[in-house]
Order: sequence, then C-alpha cells, then structure tokens
Amino acid sequence: MSETGELAAAIEEVAALLGRAESVLFITGAGVSADSGLPTYRGVGGLYNDEDAGPEEGLPIEVLLSGPFFQRDPATTWKYIRQIEEACRGAQPNPAHAVMAALEGRVDRLWVMTQNVDGLHTAAGSQNVIELHGNIHRLRCTACDYRTSVRDYSALAPLPRCPDCRAVVRPDVVLFEEMLPEAAVAAMLRERARGFELVFTVGTSSPFPYVTDPVIQARRRGGASVEINPDRTRVSDLVTHKLSAGAADAMTRLAAALRR
Ligand code: NAD
Ligand code: ZN
Repeated sequence: MSETGELAAAIEEVAALLGRAESVLFITGAGVSADSGLPTYRGVGGLYNDEDAGPEEGLPIEVLLSGPFFQRDPATTWKYIRQIEEACRGAQPNPAHAVMAALEGRVDRLWVMTQNVDGLHTAAGSQNVIELHGNIHRLRCTACDYRTSVRDYSALAPLPRCPDCRAVVRPDVVLFEEMLPEAAVAAMLRERARGFELVFTVGTSSPFPYVTDPVIQARRRGGASVEINPDRTRVSDLVTHKLSAGAADAMTRLAAALRR
C-alpha cells in the first residue's frame, strides 16, 4: 500500500478504536501547538536549534531557564521566559485542540495530559487537563500566596514584583531542575491507576517516563496506543498505531472518520 493509503487505513482503525473506547488519554507536547504557529522546543521550527546563535549570556538555555539560575539571577531568566511568551502571544487553539475538547463529550472518561505551558487545551474548552509543566499565563509570588493570571506579559515590568510583599513574582511553570507540581502529579497518578483503554501521544519527542509509561501500561493491559507525529520518536516502536502526520491534520481526519 502507498504511504498515504497506509495513513488513511490507520486513521480508520484508530477512529474505530476511538468510537468504542470508554477511557482515553491524550499526552501532548509542543507539536500539538505547532499548528497554532508556536515554535517547538527543538526539532523542526525549534526555538533553540541553532547552537551558534545560542543565548547571549553564553550559557545553554537549559541553565538560563533553570530553577537554580532563576534564584541567582531572576531578571535574566525572566528575559528568556518573556521570549517564549512573546512567541506564544495571540496564539489560538487549532483543530487538534478543538477535536480533543469535543471528544470529552463523547468518551466516558477522557483526559489530556500536556507538557505545554501555553494554556491552549483549556482555551479550546477541554476540562480534564493536567498541565504537567504549569501555565505561562499564571504568575505567583516567590515569597507569599499572591497569585494572578495575565493574558500576556506586555504590561509586566522586566522583573515583576509582588504587589503585596515586593518579592519577585514568577511564572507558574516548571523550570529546568525543578519538581513537577504536586497537584498535577497526584492527578496523573490517580488517573493512571484507573488505566486507559486507548492512549495517544501527540507532538512530543520527550523520552520522559510520564510519556512512555502510559503507552507501555496500555500495551500490557491489551489496550491500544497511537502516536501522532510526523517524525519518529522513542515511542514510535512501542505504539500499536503510528500516524505520521501533523496533529491538526490527523485529529481533523479522525473526527471526520468518527462521524461516518
Ligand atoms: P519537543 O519540541 O521536544 O518535540 C516536539 C515534537 O513535535 C517533535 O517530535 C516534532 O516532530 C513534533 N511535531 C512538530 N510539528 C508537529 C505537528 N504539526 N504535529 C504533530 N507533531 C509535530 O516538545 P516536547 O516533547 O513537548 O518537549 C519540550 C519541552 O518544552 C516540554 O517540556 C514543554 O514544556 C516545553 N515547550 C512548551 C511549548 C508550548 O507550551 N507550546 C512549546 C515548546 C516547548
Ligand atoms: Zn508576595
């Protein structure tokens, strides 16, 4: 069969699985937002691909965006977080986000677990979202309980301070070398313990156990798993169905096949 024929057949199979499944997990990464025009982290269209054009401080971005570096020099970390926010500014959910949100009304139990910090799943209307790496639109004080949400960073000072206690305010995202948020981890473990009949990974290259474990778990329980990514990744050989396509394209075609 031709490559496009293979993809079309795989879409039909996955749509049939989706039509029957009572529990579905979507694990998403930067690739799901690529179709909203957001840069991925590395890979095609990545923010930090060109090693020669590295950050002017002469340090890798993983250091500049790390928890320990933020404690030493919050203004510099803020500068790079601001670049990420500017790259996301004004982005709208795409059909991949929209189809996942619509499926919540059709599948008994559906969760989206995302590594993205752009908030686009919630913006598309998904309710059961676990934001493992936080959300760039939420800010919190590093010293007191002050929290706020912002649409974008355009009105923020270069080093924003808490209106209550004057300590430095930070985005509620997970910086490198920081722990995942407790509530998100608890939700992830709770839902994973209940198990999922069908697990998707969409637009992520991450080799983290929280991406690979649910795929392995689904396999062990005789369930199906699907990767949606134009590239090959660590999970490509683990999944039962590999859809080599972009997220918006694949999810739109799945939704259309489900309607038939
Ligand atoms: P990644 O950049 O490492 O991987 C992105 C993956 O998406 C790649 O495998 C790529 O082949 C694939 N991809 C590219 N275009 C696609 C498309 N149109 N459809 C489907 N897949 C596509 O991203 P990651 O795995 O999420 O890990 C990077 C880390 O950086 C995460 O921890 C995340 O928190 C952070 N990040 C977040 C955002 C965001 O919030 N939108 C953006 C960049 C990075
Ligand atoms: Zn404060």
